[in-house]
Amino acid sequence: MSDIQITKGFQDSVARMVDHALEMLRLPDGTGEALKACSSVVQVSFPVRIADRLEVFTGWRAVHSAHRLPVKGGLRFSPDMNQDHAEALAALMTYKCALVDVPFGGSKGGLRIDPRQYDTAALERITRRFARELIRRGYISPAENVPAPDMGTSQREMAWILDSYRDLHPEDLNHIACVTGKPLELGGIPGRLEATGRGVKYALDAFFSEPAAVREAGLTGKLCDQRIVIQGLGNVGYHLASLLQAKDSPRIIAIIERDGALLDEQGLDITAIHDYMQRTGGVEGFPGVRFERNGAQVLEAECEVLIPAAMEGVIHDGNAERVQAKLVVEAANGPCTWDADRILQSRGITILPDIFVNAGGVVVSYFEWIRNIAHVRLGRLQRRHESTRGQHVVSAIEMMTNRSAPDWLRESLTRGTDEIDLVRSALDDSMRLAFQEIRETREIESNHAPLDYRTAAYLIALRKVLRARMDLATF
Ligand code: GLU
Repeated sequence: MSDIQITKGFQDSVARMVDHALEMLRLPDGTGEALKACSSVVQVSFPVRIADRLEVFTGWRAVHSAHRLPVKGGLRFSPDMNQDHAEALAALMTYKCALVDVPFGGSKGGLRIDPRQYDTAALERITRRFARELIRRGYISPAENVPAPDMGTSQREMAWILDSYRDLHPEDLNHIACVTGKPLELGGIPGRLEATGRGVKYALDAFFSEPAAVREAGLTGKLCDQRIVIQGLGNVGYHLASLLQAKDSPRIIAIIERDGALLDEQGLDITAIHDYMQRTGGVEGFPGVRFERNGAQVLEAECEVLIPAAMEGVIHDGNAERVQAKLVVEAANGPCTWDADRILQSRGITILPDIFVNAGGVVVSYFEWIRNIAHVRLGRLQRRHESTRGQHVVSAIEMMTNRSAPDWLRESLTRGTDEIDLVRSALDDSMRLAFQEIRETREIESNHAPLDYRTAAYLIALRKVLRARMDLATF
């Protein structure tokens, strides 16, 4: 691990997007730099015995802004992980949380590792050791810094981290809130696994329910009339694609994966492709549709909506000129570089930015954290009461009309609300409200040329962070 370089590519790209919004805010000198600065970052290296030899692993956790506590953000396991990524992704978390009114600061971390090269037992040892390194330094705790799954990690890793934290802090009453995205049996919340993908779907619904927004993007019709290309059938892409496949759905005409892309103008069968990937590890050889080995080229395919849902920097100055979609929906963190953003905007392509589109994960993490801190399942106290009240309403309607209430009405009024219903409706609400706020800001701030969605989203986020940063206050 001697090749750790501190490149600044990703961070610079995010910083330039922020700068663009800062120019419109006209803040006192130095304030913009203070807002952008990463508050702290820790790098840890530690040995773990793998088979009969010791291997040294290196990981990071960056805290971008702790204006609200805890700070929040995923923990990623990837061979590309480095300090630049941790800092860039931590900054995105700050702005994302602010935009969707999740009262957390921004953090992110990760380990430089290719998890596919290790068996479960080794991964458990590595994860527990990494967790201990971060816990000891105060970079994981329910009150201060709460990780969640990200690329290369899942519920399983969160369970190991939770257990490691409990070992070190058995007295902490709130220990289960030290991570989100946990298995349900360990205090996780229903709906967290699908949350980011579902949030992307709600973002698309919000966009397509605004005829003016659709027209402005040069599109016509509803969401179901669009041809969609999705990059990445991981946790985000898969749940999004599954939701898009419901009745009256848009056509998903291409899926881009690690080993190539599948294309079919008639629309792909996501469930079958996902099953195939689980069995074979890739998409190559999936029967009945076209396979293209050069997946990156399919980002340039003719379609209405392109949804990069895999990783950062996939649309850059080398391919942005050739993207044919009218709407780019950033389901991944940082899929368009700053240069790509400028090229796409100049070509009239609309971008829905990552800090809005993929915020669903952290929104539901927030609900999970509240549930853990409150030590009660959401809706537990009111469930029975609501259903009894619903029964009274049905009886009153029937008495007054002398007719029996239709089954659907009876069912919807008398059924107590489940936690998953609360989670989904609150997620939908968060995405819709954020979209409305972005639309309003665009309207207010567009002087001569219309303001792009990303800059509007950053303006909102920066103003909210600024209001909460006492150290930057000017009164
Ligand atoms: N890793 C997710 C993200 O990038 C979720 C973070 C969280 O829930 O804390 O937004």
